Amino acid sequence: MDFEVTILGSGTLVPSGTRRSAGHFITCGSTRMLMDCGSGTMHGMARWGAAWDRITHILLTHFHTDHVGDLAPLLFALSHGLSPRRTDPLTVVGPPGIHRLMNRLAEAFGAYVLAPGFPLEVLELERDSVWSDESCGLGVSTHPTRHTDTSVAYRLETDTGTVSYTGDTGPQTGLGKFFQGTELMIAECSYPDPPRVETHLTPCGLATLAKEASPDLLVVTHIYPELDSDAVPGLLAQAGYGGRVRVAEDGLVVSLAGGEARVR
Ligand SMILES: [Zn+2]
Ligand SMILES: [Zn+2]
Repeated sequence: MDFEVTILGSGTLVPSGTRRSAGHFITCGSTRMLMDCGSGTMHGMARWGAAWDRITHILLTHFHTDHVGDLAPLLFALSHGLSPRRTDPLTVVGPPGIHRLMNRLAEAFGAYVLAPGFPLEVLELERDSVWSDESCGLGVSTHPTRHTDTSVAYRLETDTGTVSYTGDTGPQTGLGKFFQGTELMIAECSYPDPPRVETHLTPCGLATLAKEASPDLLVVTHIYPELDSDAVPGLLAQAGYGGRVRVAEDGLVVSLAGGEARVR
């Protein structure tokens, strides 16, 4: 079974000509998942050949617009932009507050957000929970992150491989252990050292996290302009992380098989 992760958006909330806001398209067997859907993600799916029309799950880490900005536009497209109309179900998964967000988006934009014309399930997960979708053999675990009062990181498991994603976080007790044993770890690294906020990672903070997690491949994303993205692998090495590192770019595809993550 192929397990592939496409980076749709490697950027932040800052407009960029090359980096869309956060979004990842994940395919494994019958699962076609969007993990975060920041601004530009929807058009990124079209740009990189992701089957946006047949998406089965949307997972959200938190409710900042660089992670959820394309949620309503995507539901609008799925509801009104397909012929013949979509009939397959869609599951939207998010941390505490996802129901409130969906209700407010429906108030602002229209009933299609909650009733797009195909079965839509909205699932609110606690910040430290495990959920599995038996229909496709997908396991989803959450862990709190130090970013907002409800933000989470995800760990996705299938028979083929395991992917972890920080969403946005600062240094967070227990997160490295939560990520252990994942082939691919996608992690934010927003700012240069020394840290100026506790709600985002710097290279030193990420190195500490990655050392404990020890993934086969670390993909670094969500880098603000004040941190030179080309310098990040060297900064992580200086901070003591010796594992494989790749700086994310829009359109990067990583395949998982046999316990390894390979950049395609
Ligand atoms: Zn955020
Ligand atoms: Zn963000």
